[in-house]
Amino acid sequence: MNDAERALRGEIIRTCLAMEERGINQGTSGNVSARWNDGLLITPSGLAYATMAPEDIIFLTMDGTAHGPHAPSTEWRFHLDIMRERADVDAIVHAHPPYLTGLSMLNKDIPAVHYMIAAVGGPSVRCAPYATYGTEELSRNALAALDGRMGCILANHGVIACGANLGKALWLAREMETLAQQYTIAVSVGTPVVLSDAEIANVIEKFKSYGPKRKDEAALKVEAPAAAPEPAPAPEPEPEPEPTPAPAPAPAKAAAAKPAPRRAAKKPAPAATAKAPASKASKPAAKPAPRKQAAKAAAAAETTVAAEPAPARGKKASARAATKAPKATAAPAATPSADQPAEAAPAKGSRTASKVARKKPVARPARANSKTAG
Ligand code: 13P
Ligand code: ZN
Repeated sequence: MNDAERALRGEIIRTCLAMEERGINQGTSGNVSARWNDGLLITPSGLAYATMAPEDIIFLTMDGTAHGPHAPSTEWRFHLDIMRERADVDAIVHAHPPYLTGLSMLNKDIPAVHYMIAAVGGPSVRCAPYATYGTEELSRNALAALDGRMGCILANHGVIACGANLGKALWLAREMETLAQQYTIAVSVGTPVVLSDAEIANVIEKFKSYGPKRKDEAALKVEAPAAAPEPAPAPEPEPEPEPTPAPAPAPAKAAAAKPAPRRAAKKPAPAATAKAPASKASKPAAKPAPRKQAAKAAAAAETTVAAEPAPARGKKASARAATKAPKATAAPAATPSADQPAEAAPAKGSRTASKVARKKPVARPARANSKTAG
């Protein structure tokens, strides 16, 4: 394990601990993964986060072979399938947050009751139909609900939040939980108004340039007042009082300036292949260092909350090339167990990514202005 891999494993553990600290998960529920070389690093099943060490994190190749001292998370299937299908996803957080999970019991999408829903990438948070945890069916349902989105609810279960890095995935999970909390409050006292699809599309566009900017950068965009007069001089005491000069117009507020649009760096397709590597220790780093600005890097370094929204990007992944069926070796236990085989591999019969259903979810919100939800 080289330094970069050890650091990413540590970041996964810190993300797990942050889920608990921030109230979006508890106990050993939930799991976290991050793309690494030609596979992904994922939390082991059923191990307390507080005791987790970098060596406990499991490396899963894109063909579904697990490497590590424990069985991988029981939800390795949807982590793997999402990484295969979505080139715009490099990190996944799964949790059972109270409000999102409460709403998941209604088996309904969350409509656009707040503009922050745009952070998920569209005008709803879809609810994937229920399927038993750890199953291919759940993975299929989740992938369909994530179509064009960075997050979804899992019916009677919890949430999946994706991101270009762990900080962003965790940030989105928290934003989704906040939205769920606000929606729960709204429906408990009335019938919330739902924003139109067009407005959410507008907000998604605005998010592309949202974020902290350097003061001088913002100032450059301020319209200078034409022939601005000097600040008002003190009135002459004598001889005859002139009419008091009007005060100089206040300069336009920086906030009113239109910020320069910042384009997100186009992400290269993942280097995932279906071949299991002989040794992950010798693999070169497939992912470059964070591609975004210093401000974002600083936020990500904390391994907690990304500084800005991460709207969903393209939904299709060139990683779909990795369609080889996962290796059918020893299946991990259906429930967490202390005596997992040392070299656990995913169960037989995993679907290939190409077989993943792409159907639209059933309960999509209707396109309308000022519609109501409840
Ligand atoms: P694992 O401990 O196997 O990751 O399972 C937790 C969970 O949330 C299953 O959905
Ligand atoms: Zn779960």
